[in-house]
Amino acid sequence: MNLHEYQGKEILNSFGVRIQRGIVAQNAKEAVAAAKQLTAETGTGWHVIKAQVHAGGRGKGGGVKLAKNLQEVEELAGQIIGMNLITPQTSAEGKKVHQVLIAEDVYYPGDNEPDEYYMSVLLNRTSGRNMIMYSTEGGMDIEAVAEETPHLIFTEEIDPSVGLLPFQARRIAFNLGLSGGAFKEMTKFVMALYTAYVKSDSSLFEINPVLKTSDDKIMAVDAKVTIDDNALYRHKNYVDMRDIREENPIEVEANEVGLNYVDLDGNVGCMVNGAGLAMATMDLIKQAGGEPANFLDVGGTADAKRVEEAFRIILKDDNVKAILINIFGGIVRCDRVAQGVVDAYKNMGDAIKVPIIVRLQGTNADIAKELIDSSGLDVQSAVEFQEAADKVQAVLA
Ligand code: GDP
Ligand code: MN
Repeated sequence: MNLHEYQGKEILNSFGVRIQRGIVAQNAKEAVAAAKQLTAETGTGWHVIKAQVHAGGRGKGGGVKLAKNLQEVEELAGQIIGMNLITPQTSAEGKKVHQVLIAEDVYYPGDNEPDEYYMSVLLNRTSGRNMIMYSTEGGMDIEAVAEETPHLIFTEEIDPSVGLLPFQARRIAFNLGLSGGAFKEMTKFVMALYTAYVKSDSSLFEINPVLKTSDDKIMAVDAKVTIDDNALYRHKNYVDMRDIREENPIEVEANEVGLNYVDLDGNVGCMVNGAGLAMATMDLIKQAGGEPANFLDVGGTADAKRVEEAFRIILKDDNVKAILINIFGGIVRCDRVAQGVVDAYKNMGDAIKVPIIVRLQGTNADIAKELIDSSGLDVQSAVEFQEAADKVQAVLA
């Protein structure tokens, strides 16, 4: 589950990680009230207005603006809320902004080269250990740093049996070129950040930038936080942080009916039982010259109701030009699935306007093929993988 910056910062703060403070606002009026409250609490005169969407690169897209007085807070918040924000990390259509974070200005006025660092915590899948990745080149696109100056990116791996050790935090502060008060602050920051990562069951923290203020404080100015969905049951207070406005609506709907669905850009809809077979089916579609429109694992029960739900989800995507159903009937019998496909098709009236190729293999595959072939519907049957691929290719041609 991805979080907004303000929610990520809330979690960091709860574990003692210093953050740039802010208050979320839904409209310009709330923004002004938030700014006043921040001034009272922090003494800040200037405020940063930050679009809250699930995408980075907001600064580049015009979603982060500095306001030097309350009138500017009101104007800028009014402009940013409701805008369609396009950043290097959104699709070409961009993302609608529903709310902004009003944050204290923590940069030294006129400082053109503030000390901004990059820091993330994530799992290194090769070693199976958490690691902290960090760089002196913060505030900019870390992918570009990785490409152009990879020697400026450091990593620190953490032994799970002992956790992050103080000497490792000191090494990080040292490699970032810090000394004195800032060095101490950074070691504290890193230790707290790692504790927050582990205790919140996150799968990604990306803090870009981490800022060294003019009075040597170290703080998180931005926060991209992803919580591991499988651990959400342990964090009832995070569950409400989900913002489905930021998620793909078809995926949300599929999720509600218990279908394992991921939306993709291609033109061939897939309906498959089992995640492994679904992956293999997507490869098959590519080989046949198509592009998968989705990943969809219908799970164990491919009955008429379930097949119909899957059809409806797949057909919400206008790019779908054909549907490939690929089911292995091991426990579930192929003839039952075939009957399910036929019944679902009939139930849906003329909602299905694209050709369907069904490949059923396993128990009673021959009976299933017979059922499909004699149904009189625009459904083609196949038994072999390649045969199915050829038929997909033929309908796309
Ligand atoms: P992103 O563009 O989505 O990564 O959003 P960030 O939260 O990283 O903000 C983008 C940029 O806005 C930062 O790299 C800073 O340069 C700038 N910024 C953020 N907070 C402040 C602030 O308090 N004062 C000033 N002057 N600039 C800020
Ligand atoms: Mn950032």
